[in-house]
Formats: sequence, C-alpha cells, structure tokens
Amino acid sequence: MNTHQTPSDLISILDKGELTPELLSIQQKVEQGLRISDEDALCLFEDAPLSLLSVLADHIRIRKSGNKTFFNRNFHIEPTNVCIYTCKFCSYSRLIKNRADGWEYTMDDMLAIVKKYDDQPVTEVHIVGGVLPQYDLDFYCTLFEKIKAHRPELHIKALTPVEYHYIFKKAKVSYEEGVRRIVASGVDSLPGGGAEIFHPEIREQIANDKCTAEQWLRIHELWHEAGKRSNATILYGHIERYEHRIDHMRQLRELQDKTGGFQTFIPLKFRNKENEMSYLDESTVIEDMKMYAVSRIYLDNFDHIKAYWPMLGRHMAQVSMTFGVDDLDGTIDDTTKIYSMAGSEEQNPSMRTYDLVSLIKTAGRIPIERDTLYHELKDWSDVSFEEDQEYKGYIALPILN
Ligand code: SF4
Repeated sequence: MNTHQTPSDLISILDKGELTPELLSIQQKVEQGLRISDEDALCLFEDAPLSLLSVLADHIRIRKSGNKTFFNRNFHIEPTNVCIYTCKFCSYSRLIKNRADGWEYTMDDMLAIVKKYDDQPVTEVHIVGGVLPQYDLDFYCTLFEKIKAHRPELHIKALTPVEYHYIFKKAKVSYEEGVRRIVASGVDSLPGGGAEIFHPEIREQIANDKCTAEQWLRIHELWHEAGKRSNATILYGHIERYEHRIDHMRQLRELQDKTGGFQTFIPLKFRNKENEMSYLDESTVIEDMKMYAVSRIYLDNFDHIKAYWPMLGRHMAQVSMTFGVDDLDGTIDDTTKIYSMAGSEEQNPSMRTYDLVSLIKTAGRIPIERDTLYHELKDWSDVSFEEDQEYKGYIALPILN
C-alpha cells in the first residue's frame, strides 16, 4: 500500500461547510476501507461536491493501483455492424433495413485482419459486433480455433452475453454447454458490453429484445466458474435515474462477491448521434466524472475502473484519472467503429503509444503496459521516443511592421 494523504487530510483543505453529516460518514467509511451502501451511493451522486468525490475515489485508486495507470495494446474485429436487435441507443441497428450500408465480414476477412497484425506488438484481439444468424456457434468456434492456431499467444477477448445468448439458443445448447464450447475453442476472456442498464424499467425501454439482465449475469457467472475473467460496463447518461445506476452496480457487486471473476468496470457515456434517442442531451463532463468516482467508491471488490478515451476525448480521459480511473482503453489503430458511429469525441480513435504514454505521464501517473489479465509487461516511464527529440521550442516568426 502506498503512503498517501488520507481523505481526512485532504478534506481539511476542502470547505467542510459543504459536507453534510451523511457525507462525512461516507468519508469515514471509505477511509476505513468499509463498503458503502446504496443509500450512500445515492447521497454521493446527489449531494457530494466534485472535490470530495475526487478525494475519495483517488484514495481507493491509490490503495488498489498505486500511481500506475494501465493500458493495453490490442486491435478490434467487428464482424458486422448489422444487427437483428433494435437497441434504441445504438447507431448500428438501423442498418438492418439497409444492409448495403453495412459490412458483414467472412471468416477469411477476419483472419486476414488478424494476420495484418502479425508483426505488431499487440497482445489482444477484441471481437464484438452486431448479431446476425450466419454468425452462429459453429462459425465463431471455428474462427476462435483458427485464430489460436495462427497465433496461440494472442489473447482472444470475444463476444458479450448478447451474442452468446443468441448463438447458444440457436444451436439449442444450454448456457453451460455453450460456455464449455467457447472455452474449448480458445476464447480467453469476455468483454463487458451488452450490460447497458440492468433495471427492467429502463432496459425494456432501450434494449427490449436482447438478453435480459439475469441472462447477462448468468453467462458471466458461468464464465467465472470456468476459471475465466471478464469485464462489466454500464451505459449511463440517458433516461436512467441514479437509482438505476446504483441497482446496476449492486447486481455486479453481488456477483463479484460470489465469483471474483470481474477485472474492470467501464462506465460508457451515452452518445446521441444517429440513434433513436438522439433527442436526448448528453451528460455533462461533471456528470461523467461523478459516474467514474461513484463507481470507484461503490465497487470496492473491482480492482480497476477503465475510461475509454475515444468516447470521452483524450483530455477528459486525462481528468478521469483523478476520479478513480486507473486504466485507459483505446485502440492503437483505427479498428473500431462502434463509438465513432455513436458520435464519440474522437472520430478517428487511434493514438500512438507515444501519445498515450505522454497523456498518462503528464497526468502524473506511471504508464504501465499490461496484458488483458493485468500482468505488467512494461513500465514506459523512462522510455525515450523519437518524438521526444522533436524540436518543440522557439520558432522564429517573421517580423511584421
Ligand atoms: S447495441 Fe448491440 S445488440 Fe443492440 S442493436 Fe446495437 S449492435 Fe445490436
């Protein structure tokens, strides 16, 4: 554990007059390493000043990860952007009516993408996309086997319970049998997508036809029981209330108490470009930082909170590191369209390793490259880049009279 200032030390420099007895009691719980309740989380969302949220979330982040911020070098394959489902927040589903605007990769297309990275220092392929009947259980198992045969050390993080529920049902296999088959075909971990908002009051309005919260949680539970790890997300900032966010996190915290299989929680901000919920405003940056901080404080049994920098924009991603985030995700190449199509800040979500490392270092953190399972691969603090040698100083300008 790092020695660092406790919330009490730091609260002494905040305006104590702003803090209610409830907030001071939450601060004490956090300082003592105790779990906060649902009521506490609501109080943080509704009443806590950002300065307090930052102090508390940062305290937990330091306790868990010290001064390190993690990143991973991966690439994405999105088999298709056409989907049989009609989630209202999604900028993909409209394409089912006009498939000409979409793509549907063949197995060979996807293997060609994998081979394109043969000489690159990537450790993970992240596979997720729309749901279509031709991408069934046999198709995906064959794809995973072929990727493993080609590059055995490449970690396959693939498909969410949305796809698994559909392909298991179509193949007429139980979840247990389906999970056995995907483990055998070489999938190493599950990404966190498809969770959206678990509460039926909201889920039925925004994602009525895909897997339910219970099905999402059950597939992750079976996955953890098979000895594997996964992540979890929340889609926030649309029609949900704070109570729905807390209910969502409570269900994740309970499953994590049971299995311990989740690694990272990833808050995803709702973006309003070209979807059926475009009439809604997007959340403010204040709301975004609250979401990171409260999730860091509430999910005491999750090791990491991740920000997806193309979604937030690189500058706000940097700020998020003072609200509990210890992991920055994003591709090293322009291989995902999911968020750019939804109107994310970064329409071309690629960043050189130099840029990502600089972004972490200028926020005062230690940039650590990790693999998918958070084994530390390299400390980039003292690595010298060619870009560091570029002249950034005085440039003579013409004198204008
Ligand atoms: S969010 Fe996923 S499941 Fe829903 S419509 Fe979009 S691609 Fe399909």
